[in-house]
Amino acid sequence: MTPDSRIDATFRLTPLQKVALAKLNLHTIIELLYYFPTRYSSISEIKNISELIIGERAIIYGKISNLKTAKGYVSKMTYAEATIEDRTGKIKAVWFRQPYIAKMFVEGDFVKLSGTVTEKSGGKYLNNPEIEKTKDMPIDSGNSLFKNTDQIGMVSYPVYPETQGITSRWIYHAIDKVIKSGLVENIVDPIPNEILEKYHLPALKTALVWVHMPKEESHGLIARKRFAFEEIFFIQLLRQRAKKEYEKNKSFLVDTKKEDVDDFISRFPFRPTDAQTNAIEAIFKDLRSEKPMLRLLEGDVGSGKTFVAAAIAYALTQEHSQGEFTKLQTAYMAPTEILATQLFENFIKYFSHLPVTIGLVTGSGCKKFPSKVDPSGWTNISKTQLMKWVAGGEVDILVGTHAIIQKTVSFKNLALAIIDEQHRFGTSQRMKLVHKGQPVPHFLSMTATPIPRTLALTIYGDLDLTLLDAMPPGRKPIITDIVYATNRDKMYADIRKELEAGRQLYVICPRIDEPDPDKEMALQAKSVTEESKRLKKNVFQEYNIDILHGKMTPSEKEKTMARFEDKKIDILCATSVVEVGVNVPNATIIVIEGAERFGLAQLHQLRGRVIRSNHQAFCYLLTESSNQKTKDRLHALKTAKNGFELAEMDLALRGAGELGGKKQWGVSDLGMEAIKNLKMVEAARNEAREMLKKNPTLKKYPLISEKLANKHEISHFE
Ligand code: ADP
Ligand code: MG
Repeated sequence: MTPDSRIDATFRLTPLQKVALAKLNLHTIIELLYYFPTRYSSISEIKNISELIIGERAIIYGKISNLKTAKGYVSKMTYAEATIEDRTGKIKAVWFRQPYIAKMFVEGDFVKLSGTVTEKSGGKYLNNPEIEKTKDMPIDSGNSLFKNTDQIGMVSYPVYPETQGITSRWIYHAIDKVIKSGLVENIVDPIPNEILEKYHLPALKTALVWVHMPKEESHGLIARKRFAFEEIFFIQLLRQRAKKEYEKNKSFLVDTKKEDVDDFISRFPFRPTDAQTNAIEAIFKDLRSEKPMLRLLEGDVGSGKTFVAAAIAYALTQEHSQGEFTKLQTAYMAPTEILATQLFENFIKYFSHLPVTIGLVTGSGCKKFPSKVDPSGWTNISKTQLMKWVAGGEVDILVGTHAIIQKTVSFKNLALAIIDEQHRFGTSQRMKLVHKGQPVPHFLSMTATPIPRTLALTIYGDLDLTLLDAMPPGRKPIITDIVYATNRDKMYADIRKELEAGRQLYVICPRIDEPDPDKEMALQAKSVTEESKRLKKNVFQEYNIDILHGKMTPSEKEKTMARFEDKKIDILCATSVVEVGVNVPNATIIVIEGAERFGLAQLHQLRGRVIRSNHQAFCYLLTESSNQKTKDRLHALKTAKNGFELAEMDLALRGAGELGGKKQWGVSDLGMEAIKNLKMVEAARNEAREMLKKNPTLKKYPLISEKLANKHEISHFE
């Protein structure tokens, strides 16, 4: 057996186990060794059924009965159900989409369940708990890991993420065999000794044993710390190396002084905030060098990022490439058609007094400003025609959705690539935009994702960061309220006053109206279609109500948005499609139904829709949940001063593992643990920087180079 041996060549596996291991992305022995327990379970978590508390994670032991499968009458989704009973009481358990569970056990089996206690129609139940048959009741299952600290007979064991076919127990025993074979002894540590010593981190072979089979709790913790550091360190190396590579390219030198844009800026109906002025200056400084800019502009929803983008785009229209008549070009990519269209329209307003040509390309067609027939407006044109002009350099600013990165789009002198709401795009999409220029364009990425600073430092290791940390003057903090069923009528009465004063309202529902594959969701969550009908019939009869959701065609959506902007619609009932960027200053009230179903960051983004003017804005978060954690999370929205503070609270409330780091940012749950620790993130960042300074190619560190080469996860610019 070597670290690269295949698991299926080492262990005898059933076909089901093979599939399951592949699903967990476990193929080789080293991958298995790097599959860490999510936690170490101890008997102290074992609860009596009568003492279970809603929202809490618990382990229970008991006898199983009433096993059955059933089908949701709305969703048609099958599920398994059972009752578990111990000497103190009974509780129901439900497994959605796993009807087979009912067949895996027989009435009277002793089982161990671990899962979260959930509430449903007033009763408690365990939602999709992990279940295994158990011979022994907890008290005599003596294989404790922490034998040394175990004074009161505490039983402890590692808990691995499971999947159908592979249990935590199987993984534990497999790893035990690998470790007992002595193989770990010969694995070479990629991280240099000096670094480990400096931060008091254990060497790889020690850490591998400790992370899986700690004899003491502290061993487990320090081993995890080492692997978290390792992960962040490698991400930093990748990102910083990519940045260095990108910066070897040449970009257009744009020598703009702030005074050059003063005239442009003075036409806006407002004065820029200091934060905006500083951001513009930082960006101009970057542009004055031939080194390509790589900058992230991070600013809360409504902080005025578009203005910054416009000022920079303006600066570029003042520049020509040497010996050419056409201007330097800007590409501006936005995640949705609604947003791209809105940006196009705003840019027409900003640039209409200038000899600047602006194009729009989306999946449903192309537009160009100015129109030949009516120089004050835009016109629809064919894609072929628009692309010809873009390639010829006659379109100065091209706004678009993903359509902008298609092969058919090529620029003459692309000097600036702007990405709005950059978290909505994948790495490869950002890369494609950047590669449309030769020399490479300056790159400005914009986001309002409120993420903790440590996470920003990690995942944006290849970008320089500028914060827009102030809101336009006069904005009043949004009054946010958590509303339960009993207060609904009072809320509608308050809203009516605002509507009477001429304001507009968003009502956000978690779903559209189609049968939802998630049974629970279909039964409980409000839908856009039904809710809009109900509001029209029972609550706001005298107002115009319309709907907006993701299943509508882009042109339908655009038309609805236009009517909302023109105030032909007073109340827009929508799904979270309005989350990004939509800007209707007169809409100052937002009602979010089923608020507990949205993430905090998303709620914050949704709420940001109503802070676009100096009218007092209101946000109502509706929830039926009495779960304490939910209450705490929603309360954070009331108290956090801004998105960044909210992100820190979210991290503290939810725990790193629940932030979905892998899916969103390619950072594992363990790596996310490091995100809680600013010192560790800074250490990893500094060590990566030092290493690249001493040895830019990393040739001196073959193990590290090899590891980096194998990382699927890539930087924004590779
Ligand atoms: P975001 O940062 O979320 O993209 P926007 O660029 O859409 O924010 O700006 C939000 C609103 O604030 C827009 O209506 C914009 O015109 C306005 N705005 C931007 N900067 C200022 C400012 N300095 N003073 C007043 N209003 C501003
Ligand atoms: Mg924006």
